[in-house]
Amino acid sequence: MDMRGIEEIIEVLERGGELTFEAFKMLMAADDGGVEMLRKAARECADRVYGREVYIRGLIEFTNYCGNDCLYCGIRRSNRNAERYRLTREQIMSCCEQGYELGFRTFVLQGGEDAYFTDERVCDIVSEIKRGYPDCAVTLSIGEKRRESYQAFFDAGADRYLLRHETANEEHYGRLHPPELSCADRKRCLWDLKEIGYQVGCGFMVGSPFQTLENIYEDLIFIKALEPHMVGIGPFIPQKDTPFGNMAAGTLDMTLRLLSIIRLMNPRVLLPATTALGTIDPRGRELGVMSGANVVMPNLSPVNVRDKYALYDNKICTGDEAAECKSCLSRRMESIGYKVVTARGDYKFI
Ligand code: SAH
Repeated sequence: MDMRGIEEIIEVLERGGELTFEAFKMLMAADDGGVEMLRKAARECADRVYGREVYIRGLIEFTNYCGNDCLYCGIRRSNRNAERYRLTREQIMSCCEQGYELGFRTFVLQGGEDAYFTDERVCDIVSEIKRGYPDCAVTLSIGEKRRESYQAFFDAGADRYLLRHETANEEHYGRLHPPELSCADRKRCLWDLKEIGYQVGCGFMVGSPFQTLENIYEDLIFIKALEPHMVGIGPFIPQKDTPFGNMAAGTLDMTLRLLSIIRLMNPRVLLPATTALGTIDPRGRELGVMSGANVVMPNLSPVNVRDKYALYDNKICTGDEAAECKSCLSRRMESIGYKVVTARGDYKFI
Protein backbone atom coordinates (compact mmCIF):
# COMPACT_ATOMS: atom_id res chain seq x y z
CA MET A 1 0.00 0.00 0.00
CA ASP A 2 1.17 3.47 -0.90
CA MET A 3 2.23 5.12 2.38
CA ARG A 4 2.46 8.56 0.77
CA GLY A 5 -1.16 8.15 -0.27
CA ILE A 6 -2.31 7.37 3.27
CA GLU A 7 -0.26 10.24 4.66
CA GLU A 8 -1.83 12.67 2.20
CA ILE A 9 -5.34 11.53 3.03
CA ILE A 10 -4.66 12.03 6.74
CA GLU A 11 -3.32 15.53 6.03
CA VAL A 12 -6.44 16.41 4.04
CA LEU A 13 -8.64 15.25 6.95
CA GLU A 14 -6.54 17.20 9.47
CA ARG A 15 -7.08 20.36 7.41
CA GLY A 16 -10.84 19.73 7.47
CA GLY A 17 -10.88 18.68 3.84
CA GLU A 18 -13.28 16.27 2.20
CA LEU A 19 -12.85 12.50 2.34
CA THR A 20 -13.55 11.10 -1.12
CA PHE A 21 -14.90 7.57 -1.51
CA GLU A 22 -11.61 6.54 -3.14
CA ALA A 23 -9.63 7.88 -0.18
CA PHE A 24 -12.00 6.21 2.27
CA LYS A 25 -11.51 2.86 0.55
CA MET A 26 -7.74 3.32 0.76
CA LEU A 27 -7.96 3.90 4.52
CA MET A 28 -10.12 0.81 4.93
CA ALA A 29 -7.60 -1.25 2.95
CA ALA A 30 -4.40 0.23 4.40
CA ASP A 31 -1.75 -2.21 5.65
CA ASP A 32 -0.41 -2.30 9.22
CA GLY A 33 1.90 0.66 8.61
CA GLY A 34 -0.95 2.74 7.19
CA VAL A 35 -3.30 1.82 10.03
CA GLU A 36 -0.65 2.79 12.55
CA MET A 37 -0.32 6.22 10.93
CA LEU A 38 -4.09 6.65 10.94
CA ARG A 39 -4.37 5.57 14.57
CA LYS A 40 -1.57 7.87 15.69
CA ALA A 41 -3.00 10.90 13.85
CA ALA A 42 -6.46 10.26 15.34
CA ARG A 43 -5.12 9.86 18.87
CA GLU A 44 -3.06 13.04 18.59
CA CYS A 45 -6.15 14.82 17.33
CA ALA A 46 -8.15 13.69 20.40
CA ASP A 47 -5.24 14.60 22.71
CA ARG A 48 -5.19 18.15 21.30
CA VAL A 49 -8.87 18.64 22.15
CA TYR A 50 -9.42 16.48 25.24
CA GLY A 51 -5.92 15.66 26.47
CA ARG A 52 -5.18 12.27 27.98
CA GLU A 53 -8.51 12.24 29.77
CA VAL A 54 -11.33 9.79 29.26
CA TYR A 55 -14.87 10.67 30.28
CA ILE A 56 -17.14 8.15 31.98
CA ARG A 57 -20.90 7.82 31.59
CA GLY A 58 -22.97 5.73 33.95
CA LEU A 59 -25.25 3.59 31.83
CA ILE A 60 -28.60 2.67 33.37
CA GLU A 61 -30.45 0.12 31.24
CA PHE A 62 -33.82 0.76 32.79
CA THR A 63 -36.16 -1.36 30.67
CA ASN A 64 -35.85 -4.13 28.11
CA TYR A 65 -39.51 -4.09 27.09
CA CYS A 66 -39.60 -3.01 23.47
CA GLY A 67 -42.37 -2.35 20.98
CA ASN A 68 -39.96 -2.32 18.05
CA ASP A 69 -38.78 -5.31 16.10
CA CYS A 70 -35.32 -4.41 14.80
CA LEU A 71 -33.93 -7.56 13.21
CA TYR A 72 -30.50 -7.36 14.88
CA CYS A 73 -31.58 -6.64 18.44
CA GLY A 74 -31.95 -9.19 21.23
CA ILE A 75 -34.67 -7.24 23.00
CA ARG A 76 -36.86 -6.98 19.88
CA ARG A 77 -40.58 -7.40 20.43
CA SER A 78 -40.79 -10.85 18.87
CA ASN A 79 -38.03 -12.39 20.97
CA ARG A 80 -40.09 -14.63 23.25
CA ASN A 81 -36.95 -15.80 25.02
CA ALA A 82 -36.08 -12.36 26.36
CA GLU A 83 -36.94 -12.18 30.04
CA ARG A 84 -38.46 -8.73 30.40
CA TYR A 85 -37.84 -6.27 33.25
CA ARG A 86 -38.26 -2.63 34.03
CA LEU A 87 -36.68 -0.69 36.88
CA THR A 88 -38.85 1.33 39.23
CA ARG A 89 -38.24 5.02 39.69
CA GLU A 90 -36.73 4.22 43.09
CA GLN A 91 -34.35 1.67 41.56
CA ILE A 92 -33.26 4.21 38.93
CA MET A 93 -32.64 6.80 41.64
CA SER A 94 -30.60 4.35 43.66
CA CYS A 95 -28.43 3.62 40.58
CA CYS A 96 -27.80 7.37 40.35
CA GLU A 97 -27.00 7.62 44.04
CA GLN A 98 -24.50 4.82 43.80
CA GLY A 99 -23.08 6.28 40.59
CA TYR A 100 -22.72 9.74 42.05
CA GLU A 101 -20.72 8.39 44.97
CA LEU A 102 -18.43 6.63 42.52
CA GLY A 103 -17.75 9.90 40.70
CA PHE A 104 -20.17 9.68 37.78
CA ARG A 105 -21.47 13.05 36.57
CA THR A 106 -23.40 11.80 33.56
CA PHE A 107 -26.25 9.32 33.74
CA VAL A 108 -27.40 7.66 30.54
CA LEU A 109 -30.91 6.23 30.67
CA GLN A 110 -31.22 3.66 27.93
CA GLY A 111 -34.04 1.31 27.17
CA GLY A 112 -36.33 -0.36 24.69
CA GLU A 113 -39.38 1.47 23.34
CA ASP A 114 -41.45 0.76 26.43
CA ALA A 115 -44.97 2.23 26.41
CA TYR A 116 -45.09 2.08 30.22
CA PHE A 117 -42.63 4.96 30.27
CA THR A 118 -44.97 7.66 29.05
CA ASP A 119 -43.66 11.17 28.45
CA GLU A 120 -44.94 12.11 31.87
CA ARG A 121 -43.05 9.28 33.59
CA VAL A 122 -39.86 10.03 31.67
CA CYS A 123 -40.12 13.73 32.56
CA ASP A 124 -40.69 12.87 36.23
CA ILE A 125 -37.59 10.70 36.33
CA VAL A 126 -35.44 13.24 34.51
CA SER A 127 -36.49 16.09 36.75
CA GLU A 128 -36.01 14.02 39.88
CA ILE A 129 -32.46 13.16 38.83
CA LYS A 130 -31.71 16.79 37.97
CA ARG A 131 -33.15 17.91 41.32
CA GLY A 132 -31.03 15.43 43.26
CA TYR A 133 -27.88 15.91 41.18
CA PRO A 134 -27.92 19.38 39.61
CA ASP A 135 -24.24 19.10 38.68
CA CYS A 136 -24.88 16.02 36.53
CA ALA A 137 -25.86 15.64 32.90
CA VAL A 138 -28.76 13.38 31.97
CA THR A 139 -28.62 11.59 28.64
CA LEU A 140 -31.66 9.81 27.22
CA SER A 141 -31.46 6.92 24.78
CA ILE A 142 -35.04 5.79 24.39
CA GLY A 143 -35.56 5.83 20.67
CA GLU A 144 -37.85 7.64 18.26
CA LYS A 145 -40.43 9.99 19.75
CA ARG A 146 -42.57 12.88 18.58
CA ARG A 147 -40.81 16.24 18.56
CA GLU A 148 -43.13 17.44 21.36
CA SER A 149 -41.96 14.58 23.54
CA TYR A 150 -38.30 15.43 22.94
CA GLN A 151 -39.12 19.03 23.82
CA ALA A 152 -40.86 17.95 27.04
CA PHE A 153 -37.88 15.82 28.12
CA PHE A 154 -35.56 18.72 27.36
CA ASP A 155 -37.72 21.11 29.38
CA ALA A 156 -37.64 18.60 32.25
CA GLY A 157 -33.85 18.89 32.22
CA ALA A 158 -32.47 16.25 29.85
CA ASP A 159 -29.17 17.49 28.39
CA ARG A 160 -28.21 14.94 25.79
CA TYR A 161 -29.84 12.33 23.54
CA LEU A 162 -28.33 9.25 21.93
CA LEU A 163 -30.11 7.91 18.87
CA ARG A 164 -27.93 5.91 16.56
CA HIS A 165 -29.08 6.42 12.99
CA GLU A 166 -28.08 2.73 12.43
CA THR A 167 -27.39 3.25 8.70
CA ALA A 168 -27.78 6.35 6.55
CA ASN A 169 -28.80 4.31 3.52
CA GLU A 170 -32.55 3.85 3.07
CA GLU A 171 -32.31 0.44 1.39
CA HIS A 172 -29.85 -0.92 3.95
CA TYR A 173 -32.06 0.49 6.71
CA GLY A 174 -34.95 -1.49 5.25
CA ARG A 175 -32.99 -4.74 5.50
CA LEU A 176 -32.24 -4.20 9.21
CA HIS A 177 -35.67 -3.02 10.30
CA PRO A 178 -39.35 -3.96 9.95
CA PRO A 179 -41.31 -2.02 7.31
CA GLU A 180 -42.92 0.33 9.83
CA LEU A 181 -39.56 1.92 10.64
CA SER A 182 -37.86 4.30 8.23
CA CYS A 183 -34.46 5.84 7.81
CA ALA A 184 -36.00 9.21 7.00
CA ASP A 185 -38.00 9.25 10.27
CA ARG A 186 -34.93 8.38 12.29
CA LYS A 187 -32.86 11.13 10.66
CA ARG A 188 -35.74 13.57 11.21
CA CYS A 189 -35.63 12.73 14.94
CA LEU A 190 -31.92 13.58 15.04
CA TRP A 191 -32.44 16.95 13.36
CA ASP A 192 -35.34 17.69 15.76
CA LEU A 193 -33.16 16.84 18.75
CA LYS A 194 -30.43 19.15 17.51
CA GLU A 195 -32.85 22.01 16.89
CA ILE A 196 -34.31 21.65 20.37
CA GLY A 197 -30.83 22.14 21.81
CA TYR A 198 -29.72 18.71 22.97
CA GLN A 199 -26.15 17.51 22.66
CA VAL A 200 -26.92 14.78 20.17
CA GLY A 201 -25.33 11.43 19.40
CA CYS A 202 -25.88 9.38 16.26
CA GLY A 203 -24.00 6.27 15.18
CA PHE A 204 -24.11 2.85 13.60
CA MET A 205 -23.03 -0.76 13.96
CA VAL A 206 -19.87 -1.81 12.18
CA GLY A 207 -20.30 -4.97 10.13
CA SER A 208 -24.08 -5.11 10.39
CA PRO A 209 -25.65 -7.61 7.99
CA PHE A 210 -25.60 -6.51 4.31
CA GLN A 211 -23.50 -3.42 5.10
CA THR A 212 -21.21 -2.33 2.25
CA LEU A 213 -18.30 0.12 2.20
CA GLU A 214 -20.59 2.44 0.23
CA ASN A 215 -23.07 2.32 3.12
CA ILE A 216 -20.40 3.20 5.65
CA TYR A 217 -19.21 6.05 3.46
CA GLU A 218 -22.80 7.36 3.46
CA ASP A 219 -22.77 7.12 7.25
CA LEU A 220 -19.66 9.28 7.37
CA ILE A 221 -21.21 11.85 5.03
CA PHE A 222 -24.38 11.91 7.13
CA ILE A 223 -22.33 12.42 10.31
CA LYS A 224 -20.42 15.25 8.66
CA ALA A 225 -23.70 16.95 7.70
CA LEU A 226 -25.47 16.45 11.05
CA GLU A 227 -22.48 17.62 13.09
CA PRO A 228 -23.46 15.57 16.14
CA HIS A 229 -21.74 16.07 19.49
CA MET A 230 -21.31 12.33 19.99
CA VAL A 231 -20.94 9.33 17.69
CA GLY A 232 -21.56 5.83 19.01
CA ILE A 233 -20.13 3.03 16.91
CA GLY A 234 -19.46 -0.56 17.85
CA PRO A 235 -19.32 -3.89 16.10
CA PHE A 236 -22.54 -5.69 15.26
CA ILE A 237 -22.65 -8.88 17.35
CA PRO A 238 -25.26 -11.56 16.61
CA GLN A 239 -27.86 -12.45 19.23
CA LYS A 240 -28.98 -16.05 18.93
CA ASP A 241 -32.74 -15.48 19.15
CA THR A 242 -32.86 -12.93 16.33
CA PRO A 243 -33.13 -13.44 12.54
CA PHE A 244 -29.44 -12.45 12.35
CA GLY A 245 -28.38 -15.00 14.96
CA ASN A 246 -26.08 -16.83 12.55
CA MET A 247 -24.52 -13.79 10.91
CA ALA A 248 -20.87 -12.85 11.37
CA ALA A 249 -19.91 -10.18 13.90
CA GLY A 250 -18.22 -6.92 12.90
CA THR A 251 -14.45 -6.91 13.31
CA LEU A 252 -12.12 -5.17 15.73
CA ASP A 253 -9.91 -3.97 12.88
CA MET A 254 -12.72 -2.30 10.97
CA THR A 255 -14.19 -0.68 14.09
CA LEU A 256 -10.80 0.77 15.10
CA ARG A 257 -10.17 2.18 11.61
CA LEU A 258 -13.59 3.82 11.68
CA LEU A 259 -13.08 5.28 15.15
CA SER A 260 -9.89 6.92 13.84
CA ILE A 261 -11.55 8.21 10.68
CA ILE A 262 -14.51 9.62 12.63
CA ARG A 263 -12.13 11.34 15.08
CA LEU A 264 -10.14 12.94 12.25
CA MET A 265 -13.28 14.08 10.43
CA ASN A 266 -14.87 15.45 13.64
CA PRO A 267 -12.01 16.47 15.96
CA ARG A 268 -14.15 17.55 18.92
CA VAL A 269 -16.67 14.72 18.83
CA LEU A 270 -17.32 12.64 21.96
CA LEU A 271 -16.51 9.12 20.88
CA PRO A 272 -17.12 6.12 23.12
CA ALA A 273 -15.11 2.90 23.13
CA THR A 274 -18.22 0.77 23.50
CA THR A 275 -19.07 -2.32 25.49
CA ALA A 276 -19.62 -4.16 22.19
CA LEU A 277 -16.00 -3.38 21.26
CA GLY A 278 -14.89 -4.75 24.63
CA THR A 279 -17.01 -7.84 23.96
CA ILE A 280 -15.39 -8.85 20.65
CA ASP A 281 -11.86 -8.35 22.02
CA PRO A 282 -10.62 -8.35 25.64
CA ARG A 283 -8.59 -5.21 24.93
CA GLY A 284 -11.17 -3.66 22.62
CA ARG A 285 -11.87 -0.59 24.72
CA GLU A 286 -8.19 0.17 25.33
CA LEU A 287 -7.52 -0.15 21.60
CA GLY A 288 -10.56 2.04 20.94
CA VAL A 289 -9.15 4.84 23.07
CA MET A 290 -5.74 4.40 21.45
CA SER A 291 -7.51 4.84 18.09
CA GLY A 292 -9.18 8.13 19.04
CA ALA A 293 -12.10 7.34 21.37
CA ASN A 294 -12.42 9.45 24.55
CA VAL A 295 -15.46 8.09 26.40
CA VAL A 296 -16.27 4.83 28.20
CA MET A 297 -19.67 3.86 29.52
CA PRO A 298 -19.56 1.51 32.49
CA ASN A 299 -22.78 -0.09 33.58
CA LEU A 300 -24.71 1.18 36.61
CA SER A 301 -27.71 -1.14 36.22
CA PRO A 302 -28.48 -3.45 39.14
CA VAL A 303 -26.57 -6.73 38.76
CA ASN A 304 -29.74 -8.83 38.89
CA VAL A 305 -31.01 -7.36 35.58
CA ARG A 306 -27.67 -6.96 33.79
CA ASP A 307 -27.77 -10.09 31.69
CA LYS A 308 -31.37 -9.43 30.68
CA TYR A 309 -30.42 -6.33 28.69
CA ALA A 310 -29.02 -8.68 26.06
CA LEU A 311 -28.90 -6.77 22.79
CA TYR A 312 -26.25 -9.27 21.62
CA ASP A 313 -24.60 -12.47 22.88
CA ASN A 314 -21.68 -12.74 25.34
CA LYS A 315 -21.93 -9.16 26.57
CA ILE A 316 -19.15 -8.40 29.06
CA CYS A 317 -19.44 -7.13 32.66
CA THR A 318 -22.89 -8.63 33.27
CA GLY A 319 -21.84 -9.92 36.69
CA ASP A 320 -19.93 -6.92 38.04
CA GLU A 321 -21.15 -4.31 40.48
CA ALA A 322 -20.90 -0.68 39.33
CA ALA A 323 -17.88 -0.07 41.54
CA GLU A 324 -16.01 -2.99 39.98
CA CYS A 325 -16.84 -1.81 36.45
CA LYS A 326 -15.57 1.66 37.24
CA SER A 327 -12.31 0.53 38.85
CA CYS A 328 -11.69 -2.07 36.14
CA LEU A 329 -12.07 0.58 33.43
CA SER A 330 -9.93 3.08 35.35
CA ARG A 331 -7.15 0.49 35.57
CA ARG A 332 -7.48 -0.38 31.90
CA MET A 333 -7.18 3.27 30.91
CA GLU A 334 -4.19 3.81 33.20
CA SER A 335 -2.48 0.84 31.56
CA ILE A 336 -2.40 2.80 28.28
CA GLY A 337 -1.49 6.17 29.83
CA TYR A 338 -5.01 7.64 30.08
CA LYS A 339 -7.00 8.80 33.05
CA VAL A 340 -10.71 8.37 33.75
CA VAL A 341 -11.97 11.70 35.06
CA THR A 342 -14.92 12.85 37.14
CA ALA A 343 -16.34 15.55 34.93
CA ARG A 344 -19.62 16.05 33.13
CA GLY A 345 -17.53 15.83 29.98
CA ASP A 346 -19.55 18.13 27.76
CA TYR A 347 -18.79 18.67 24.12
CA LYS A 348 -16.03 21.26 23.69
CA PHE A 349 -17.80 24.08 21.82
CA ILE A 350 -14.43 25.98 21.98
N1 SAH B 1 -34.32 1.78 21.89
C1 SAH B 1 -33.18 2.69 21.83
C2 SAH B 1 -31.92 2.04 22.34
C3 SAH B 1 -31.45 0.91 21.45
S1 SAH B 1 -30.14 -0.08 22.08
C4 SAH B 1 -33.04 3.21 20.43
O1 SAH B 1 -33.78 2.80 19.54
O2 SAH B 1 -32.22 4.07 20.21
C5 SAH B 1 -28.75 0.90 21.63
C6 SAH B 1 -27.98 0.47 20.39
O3 SAH B 1 -27.51 -0.85 20.51
C7 SAH B 1 -28.75 0.45 19.10
O4 SAH B 1 -28.90 1.74 18.59
C8 SAH B 1 -27.92 -0.47 18.22
O5 SAH B 1 -27.04 0.29 17.37
C9 SAH B 1 -27.11 -1.28 19.23
N2 SAH B 1 -27.39 -2.72 19.06
C10 SAH B 1 -28.57 -3.34 19.05
N3 SAH B 1 -28.43 -4.65 18.76
C11 SAH B 1 -27.11 -4.87 18.58
C12 SAH B 1 -26.33 -6.01 18.23
N4 SAH B 1 -26.89 -7.19 17.98
N5 SAH B 1 -24.98 -5.84 18.14
C13 SAH B 1 -24.41 -4.66 18.38
N6 SAH B 1 -25.10 -3.55 18.68
C14 SAH B 1 -26.44 -3.64 18.79
